[in-house]
Parts: sequence; structure tokens; C-alpha cells
Amino acid sequence: MGKLISVVVPCYNEQEVLKMFYDEINRVSLTMTNYNFEIIFVNDGSKDDTLLICKELASKDDRVKYISFSRNFGKEAAIFAGFEKSSGDLVCMMDADLQDPPALLPEMVKAIEYEGYDSVATRRVTRKGEPPVRSFFARMFYKIMNKISKTEIVDGARDYRLMTRQFVDSILDLKEYNRFSKGLFGWVGYNTKWLEYENVERAAGETKWSFWKLLLYSIEGIMAFSTVPLSISVVVGLIFCIIAFIAIIIIIAKTILFGDPVSGWPSTACIILFVGGVQLFCIGILGQYLSKAYLEIKNRPIYICKETNMKK
Ligand code: UDP
Ligand code: MG
Repeated sequence: MGKLISVVVPCYNEQEVLKMFYDEINRVSLTMTNYNFEIIFVNDGSKDDTLLICKELASKDDRVKYISFSRNFGKEAAIFAGFEKSSGDLVCMMDADLQDPPALLPEMVKAIEYEGYDSVATRRVTRKGEPPVRSFFARMFYKIMNKISKTEIVDGARDYRLMTRQFVDSILDLKEYNRFSKGLFGWVGYNTKWLEYENVERAAGETKWSFWKLLLYSIEGIMAFSTVPLSISVVVGLIFCIIAFIAIIIIIAKTILFGDPVSGWPSTACIILFVGGVQLFCIGILGQYLSKAYLEIKNRPIYICKETNMKK
């Protein structure tokens, strides 16, 4: 009996590509005769026929498993659910849209089995086929993130990864509600090998990420893995105190030397507005962290499974 590889596939409205994906992973799995496969489709509250297709595939191929959520919980939740239910010695996560080429799998398995790595991750070296604005902001995000967070987050890293059971169990031990996988994978440590490949465009269907969604996601990532924004208020406050102190001395000296002609209302108004703005900004940052803490304290489940053909 060979080792079992669990392939976790989050799916949200993927009816156009799901069959194509299955054919491809099936083809690859047949070339890897020493391994058994388990393909776990996590239906993340799709509004199209994704679940129907999953069931159809499962009825034809008993390696196919599915978990279906009660609503859309997001990709992070889908990954968590897939990991939790998986029982493979090796666990692989990949997107359903064939942007993560299943054909890389044999090479990834080799790195874990024979080169002693705990995980093999992939990163794309080009951002071909992506809007330039998006690429620009993505680069900025990785720059800022790596400056202010101790956890390394690799630029261009995709969520396409093969892991040992031990690695996956470590990820599952992190039970936080606000999940940012790219950071979690870095945080748990272990030895990771990086494979590079050219960006592949989605085989069919549409991306679920608008620019706005990505921006919010990146803010979430920063907040989940860094508390530096919280220190902004401390630094800004300190700078303002120093400026105010110097200004007071100058004004006192000026008054003693030249008397006190009343003027400068416009500048005063500007200063009040500016300082007020900075204060609100800092309170806002505080509020963001507080809201995250609030959600964590509620301790809600990360996902709700409505139906599945898995026992575990
Ligand atoms: N996905 C998901 N839940 C969501 C959004 C996306 O499970 O709320 C899945 C989607 O089905 C796909 C993967 O996450 O398998 C990546 O999504 P997409 O291709 O839209 O993102 P991109 O490749 O453009 O970053
Ligand atoms: Mg994609």
C-alpha cells in the first residue's frame, strides 16, 4: 500500500472548470502509481452547480470526497475544513481553476520524500496577465508586510502547497478565526522548498477577487501578523509633543521680546484639524484591532458543514 495524498480544492462558483480540473488531477494521479489519492472538494457556498458536479464526480470515483458549506465562508475557511477532514500522509492544496498546475505534483512529492523537506510551496515569478495596478499594490503589500512583521511572507507566493501530515497538524493547531494562510504557513516554520513557475491564467470562469476585496484582505493580513500599526500613535504622539514643546518655548520668547499681537487664527484652525485627524486615525487603528479581538473572543466555528460524504 502506497502513501495517501489528500488534495484539498476550495471551490466557489467553479462549475465551468471543475470537470476540467478533475480530468487533469486524475491524469496526474494515474502517472503516480506508488501513491493513493483522495480529492477533497470544499464547496464554499457556491450559488451555481458546483455541488452537483462534485456529487457527480464522487459517484463515479470513490477517491472524490466533498464537503459543502452552509454559506460562503471564504477560501481560508475552505482550506481549514479540507485540512481538518483530510487523512493523507501528504496534503496538497490547490485552486480549482488550474492556475496551480497539478502537473507539478510529482516534483513536489519528490522534494518531500527524497530531499527531506516538510513542505513544498510555489511562487510565480511573473505576474503576466494581471492588471498593472493590481501588481503594483501587490508588490507594495509584500514590501510593507515584510518590513513590519516578523513572519516572512514571500512575494508572489501562491496558495499551492504540498505538506507533510505534521505540517498540516501544526496549521490546524492555529485555531484563530481571522485566518491569513500565507502568514500561517510562514509562522509554523519547518523547512520549505520553493518552486518557481510562470503565472498561468485561469482556465475558465472568473476570479472571485475584486481589487477592493484584495485590499481588505491585505489589511487583514497586516493586522493578523503585525502590531506595528498600533505603535503608530505612540510615535506620532511623541513627535507632536516635541513639536508642541518647541513651539511653546518660541512663542513665550517671542511674547517676552515683541509683545503679543493677536493673529494666526487660520493656522490655529489648521493645527486643530490636523491633530484631530491624526487622533481619529489612531483611534481607528485601535478600533480595527479591537474588532478583530472581538471576533476571536466570540469563538465561533470557522465553517459550518451542511453536507459531506466524508466520515471524519
Ligand atoms: N474560493 C473560495 N471561496 C471564496 C473565493 C474563492 O473557495 O470565497 C476559491 C476559488 O474557487 C478558487 C480559489 O479559491 O479555487 C482561488 O480563487 P480565484 O481563482 O478566484 O483567485 P485568484 O486565483 O484570482 O487569486
Ligand atoms: Mg485563480
